[in-house]
Amino acid sequence: MFNALVVNRDEESKKTSAAVEQISLDQLPDGEVTVAVEYSTVNYKDGLCIGPGGGLVRKYPHVPGIDFAGTVETSSDDRYKPGDKVVSTGWRVGEAHWGGYSQKANVKADWLVPLPEGLDCRQAMAVGTAGFTAMLAVMALEDHGLEPGHGPVLVTGAAGGVGSVASAILANLGYEVAGVTGRPETAEYLTSLGVSQIVAREDLNETVKRPLEAESWAGCVDAVGGAMLARVLGQMKYGASVAAVGLAGGAGLPTTVIPFLLRGVNLLGIDSVMQPYDNRLRAWTRIAADLPMDKLEAMIQPARLSDLPKLGADILNGQIKGRVVVDVN
Ligand code: NDP
Repeated sequence: MFNALVVNRDEESKKTSAAVEQISLDQLPDGEVTVAVEYSTVNYKDGLCIGPGGGLVRKYPHVPGIDFAGTVETSSDDRYKPGDKVVSTGWRVGEAHWGGYSQKANVKADWLVPLPEGLDCRQAMAVGTAGFTAMLAVMALEDHGLEPGHGPVLVTGAAGGVGSVASAILANLGYEVAGVTGRPETAEYLTSLGVSQIVAREDLNETVKRPLEAESWAGCVDAVGGAMLARVLGQMKYGASVAAVGLAGGAGLPTTVIPFLLRGVNLLGIDSVMQPYDNRLRAWTRIAADLPMDKLEAMIQPARLSDLPKLGADILNGQIKGRVVVDVN
């Protein structure tokens, strides 16, 4: 028997409740690789899955946790053997499939990547899906021509998980980073990550009145979406790109096509879940090289399985600063 955070649903009221329970190996879903999980983390999607599910969870009882890192215990796939350190993100683990809020997990070998050289399991979970996605976003901007010296790069939701990692990576690569936050009290933290200009959320929250504003940003990693993304599109420099990562501020996009037609602005979609294996490795290798570990350490809030019901609600309310690292043992 081992510990897991289990979400149950009352079929009459449809209300869910999450608590740490003892479960056994035969309760885990089928998989080719059994992993002794060391660490997990809390992403926005985890908040949804710890709570009412947000349409992501199909069946209850459910074990959430979209990310985990740990050691292979058994494997029926040649690519992994007992003792190997592995990382799991995406592929709907923690949503459609039981996830990492458990001392053991069973998954397909295809879903795993070897723990990147230069990172331990705890650091890999401090990165997690949020940081992995931040790296994918930076890579997409670079692939579309962004280089240091082109001007400030805007990061929205800067004090959150995606925003914190994106800010630290960009600053380390020599970019001038402007961070949008609705929490002025995080200014010192953001500065420590390398953000050189703090932009107040209110300055970008209003809906678009003019489709084009002054050309301000050479690139943008956007974790917020909604009205803020619409405003930002009209403020991009000629030919610049926005990597659309998240919807913390809304899924709508109340804009016009004018920034695309008159300024050649690019809107780049970033998905971490179905990302092909080769690009996953490329992103993890870049993280190990380009994310300074002292800055990653400054983002970490440690937690245990029993803290997750509260942390799940906190992330949905935009109250998590940086990255939570959950020691499941
Ligand atoms: P966090 O909660 O850690 O960060 C989100 C941040 O957005 C908050 O910290 C806050 O930053 C800001 N924010 C919250 N609510 C609002 C609002 N109403 N208006 C404006 N800003 C707001 O979440 P994550 O960083 O883990 O995820 C961010 C987004 O990215 C989520 O929508 C998530 O679903 C998405 N995502 C997408 C992935 C993909 O594959 N495309 C992968 C990972 C995440 P501040 O306090 O600084 O203002």
